[in-house]
Amino acid sequence: MAIKQVVYEPLTTDTARELSKNLQLFNQNDQLSAVEIGDGNLNLVFRIQNVINEKSYIIKQALPYAKVVGTSWPLTLDRSRIEGESLKRTYQLVPELTPKVYYSDSTLAVTVMDDLSHLIILRKGLIAGNQYPKLAKDIGIFLAHTLFFNSDFGLNQQDKKIQSSQFINPELCKITEDLVFTDPFFDHDTNNIDDTLKLFVTETIWADPALKLEVAKLKQAFLTKGETLVHGDLHTGSIFVSEEETIVIDPEFAYYGPFGFDVGAFIANLILNYLAQDVHLAVQPQKKAEFQRYLLDVITETWQVFEQEFTTLWQEHPQDAFMNVDGYLEQTLQTIFSDAIGFAGCKVIRRMIGLAGVEDVESITDVNLRNQVKKNALTLGKKLIVQRNELTSIQKLVKVVSDHA
Ligand code: ADP
Ligand code: MG
Ligand code: MG
Ligand code: MG
Repeated sequence: MAIKQVVYEPLTTDTARELSKNLQLFNQNDQLSAVEIGDGNLNLVFRIQNVINEKSYIIKQALPYAKVVGTSWPLTLDRSRIEGESLKRTYQLVPELTPKVYYSDSTLAVTVMDDLSHLIILRKGLIAGNQYPKLAKDIGIFLAHTLFFNSDFGLNQQDKKIQSSQFINPELCKITEDLVFTDPFFDHDTNNIDDTLKLFVTETIWADPALKLEVAKLKQAFLTKGETLVHGDLHTGSIFVSEEETIVIDPEFAYYGPFGFDVGAFIANLILNYLAQDVHLAVQPQKKAEFQRYLLDVITETWQVFEQEFTTLWQEHPQDAFMNVDGYLEQTLQTIFSDAIGFAGCKVIRRMIGLAGVEDVESITDVNLRNQVKKNALTLGKKLIVQRNELTSIQKLVKVVSDHA
């Protein structure tokens, strides 16, 4: 095994290749290719491959700053430890939905894992109009098992306290607190708003005190509800898919937060793709209707699988004497659902006016068409936030989306 590195150094393709040999992932005289393939906002991702037999690994390394902004935005390397620990914990619960970690090193801030290059990032697949038959079931299972077994409902309650202390992630939580819950709701300089959209945002979002009150409550939930270990960044760019497989990556934002947070993130990003398809598939109305129907079915089925599986786990693995009290499960699920819808609304809004957009919408080149999608998203996001307590079933949620002009 390699000698543990004592100082942090950003890897290059050469040193990444060397590291993979030191870790005995390959033989000393194997001929290896190394490429940096990261397209995310924060980290380096190297793919190391044996050029003869094509065996490969991924080495992900955190930089001491946010790659998307540069060295002016320092960011803790500890997120790499969090990511490695979260992936390992998740692998215990849902190995078929998680990359295997072969090595992690908190000094070098690296995680070595399965190469998933045979799969496609879900966001890209959806933009291309592809359907994934296993997606909803897999994500429903992923959410039920990870959220249940890391919570006081499914994990020994003393062990849960110890585990939660390993996932204190203040700097990455602050990114979410600022960029998802705060800045988009004020005229803040991190926002990124086309001039032609500014008046609409001012009137629809910033000048609405009732909306802000609801967002304040959701932010409070994010700050204080340490219910379970959430992934923390479960958008469609954190999911690799094919017709046969679904694998969730990139849990560097993991922390003990509300049950509804990951559910909401996933739903929000499906909704954003849905709204963007109004433009992408405008000239193929039949295909558009069919694909948007598919997206709503994914939302519905994901929640139904989650609900069913969570119920089964609740009945079979109770950690608390109250869990067989009538109504407790139903109330827990209802709160998870309304929190999820509220978080989804915040995530939809922040992607339209905050620092980081989504390719689904930003790839619309015509500014008027793009703005129209953004306006739709902003008003829908608002509805989700303020109506979340009345949207008491998945059917009602889906109807709000499909009725939204
Ligand atoms: P970031 O935290 O910077 O967003 P990600 O973990 O999302 O980094 O990875 C960024 C990109 O690198 C992904 O979109 C994907 O293209 C590639 N990538 C990441 N992990 C893997 C993997 N295990 N296998 C193949 N490609 C990967
Ligand atoms: Mg990512
Ligand atoms: Mg696996
Ligand atoms: Mg990330």
